[in-house]
Parts: sequence; C-alpha cells; structure tokens
Amino acid sequence: MYMPSVEFHQATTLPEAFDLLQACGPSTRVLAGGTDLLVDLKAKRVTTDHVISITRVGELKGIALDNGSLRIGALTTITQLDESPLLEGGFDPIRDAARLMAVRQIRNVATIGGNLASAVPCADLPPILIAMNARVHIASRDGEREVPIKEFLLDVRKTALDRHDILSAITVPQPPPQFGAAYERFGLREGNAIAVAAVAAGIRLATDGTLETATIVLSAVSPIPKIALQASSIVQGQHPSDDLFARAGEAARGEADPISDIRGSASFRRDLVAVLVQRALKKAVERAGGDVL
Ligand SMILES: Cc1cc2nc3c(=O)[nH]c(=O)nc-3n(C[C@H](O)[C@H](O)[C@H](O)COP(=O)(O)OP(=O)(O)OC[C@H]3O[C@@H](n4cnc5c(N)ncnc54)[C@H](O)[C@@H]3O)c2cc1C
Repeated sequence: MYMPSVEFHQATTLPEAFDLLQACGPSTRVLAGGTDLLVDLKAKRVTTDHVISITRVGELKGIALDNGSLRIGALTTITQLDESPLLEGGFDPIRDAARLMAVRQIRNVATIGGNLASAVPCADLPPILIAMNARVHIASRDGEREVPIKEFLLDVRKTALDRHDILSAITVPQPPPQFGAAYERFGLREGNAIAVAAVAAGIRLATDGTLETATIVLSAVSPIPKIALQASSIVQGQHPSDDLFARAGEAARGEADPISDIRGSASFRRDLVAVLVQRALKKAVERAGGDVL
C-alpha cells in the first residue's frame, strides 16, 4: 500500500481552513491525527487531490468546563482525554472508552473529532457520548451549529457534516445527580483490536433506587450506534437486579443488527451484546451509587 500523491495544505485558523475547503474542491479531506484518513487513502477507500491539515488550528484544541458542561475541542487526542483531570468524577465513563481504544501510539495522535467524523460502526467514543447526551458542534463560514450526537451519525462513514464544515467540539452536559454511565466492549486482543461488539449504558436512579431513565446503546452491531429501545424500556421503573439486566440483555440481543466478518459471526456478536448489556448496566448503576440485587 503506497500513499497516493495529494496536495497538502496547512490551515492555522478556522477561517483559513474554510477558505481552503472552498478553494480545493468537493473531494478535499480534512486531516487531524491521520490514523483513519491516511490508512483510507493508502487503501484507496478515500480518493482526493487535496488534504487540509487542521492540527495547528488553536480554536479546535483544549478541554474546558463551562457551567458544569464539558467542552472537548475536536483536536483533543485520546490520550489528552484520558489524562484530563476535568474528566474525573461525572465524566469518568468517557475514559472507559478512551482507555479501550487502540494502543498508546495511536491514542497519542488520534482525535475525538476524527473518531466521530470517520463514522465507522466500531468507533469507541460515539456510544458512550450518546449515553451521556453529548452534542456535536459544527463550524462553518456561517457560524457554529450544534446537533445531538445521535443525529450527527447518519450511516456508515456518513455524518451531518457538509463538505465545507469542520467538527469543532463536543459538549457533554453535567451529569445529573444519581446518574451513572459505563462502556463495555469485546475485542479479540487487549490492544490494537477494534470492537467486535460494544455497549454503553447511561442510567439515572430515582430516590427509591429504581431506574428512572435508561439509555442502552449498542455498537459495532449495526451501521451506526443503535439505542436498544426495548432493552432500555424493560429496565425503566424497575429495581436494578441481575435478573432484570439479563432480561434486558436478551432483548438487546434481538435488537442488534450485526454482520458476520473475520472477527466474529453475527450470532456470536448477538451473544456478546447480551452479556455486555448486563455488565454496562451493572457498572452504570454502581457509578450512580445504587445497588444491584
Ligand atoms: C492501528 C489502529 C488502531 C485503531 N484502533 C481503534 C480503536 O480501538 N477504536 C476506535 O474507535 N478507533 C480505532 N482506530 C481508528 C482511529 O484511530 C480513530 O477513529 C481516531 O479517533 C481517528 O482520529 P484522527 O484524528 O486520526 O482522524 P483522521 O484520520 O485525521 O480523520 C478521520 C476522518 O475524519 C475527518 N475529520 C477529522 N477531524 C475532523 C474535523 N475536526 N472536522 C471534520 N472532519 C474531520 C477526516 O477528514 C477523515 O475523513 C484505530 C486506527 C488504527 C490505525
């Protein structure tokens, strides 16, 4: 696999990036960490004559707390995400996913923006961000707009980004009291293996210890992360228990829409979903301070 010949551009500000996107034509690609794009260019899954690096665009960097909500710049690397003290406490579940991703060398350059913009079915950050009600901020010449992350991912490798847009940040609202979330995934190896199946769960406990709300998100078993509506509704209003979570897992097994490939058959993936749902719900309840009977 050889790198095709492309014209390389470097933007240092967002307006400069928008000018370049306008000037370079429809197939132009934005480059962040390059851990997806360079592989796709070499494999010819993506073809373009122009690549615009945004790695020096300061507006896309940094993690900050704003009125309790977490704003993560699109260029934040997975390592920066993992190591940020701002994630301690309520935003911890995002770390679950960051720590499971790839290996250190990849995490040091791979960005959160690239993980979302790639829109591959097994990406690790989208499911937990959906379970935590994150929003995606999209910058264009006309200003910034934001969409809930579940409306950002449209299909395999298809997002709400227009060809002149740049994903600028992700915001995660401050988790309410008695909220807990967790991400569980299965890969074929400890490191550098993408998810064969994964599940994120976000729950909120009522004062009597029952599950007031629950969002169970299945990943790598459908074209885009899928909220398992039936499994989520089975647990709502109920006291957390292993038996309840087993029933939710069975419902989610039926809601998954997996493919068979070299990493596992569709039926193996469904089995994984049934188990991962139970693990994610249990951890989420424990994080919320609840007990599982
Ligand atoms: C060995 C290896 C292991 C991996 N393991 C995992 C894994 O375990 N889990 C996982 O989820 N992923 C994994 N990946 C995939 C990859 O590392 C991640 O998806 C990463 O987060 C992509 O970010 P990036 O900055 O490298 O994106 P890039 O490769 O720079 O870009 C990816 C895509 O997003 C677009 N893009 C990037 N940033 C923006 C932006 N701000 N605005 C608009 N468009 C943008 C690019 O144009 C391109 O189409 C792995 C990759 C490799 C090579």
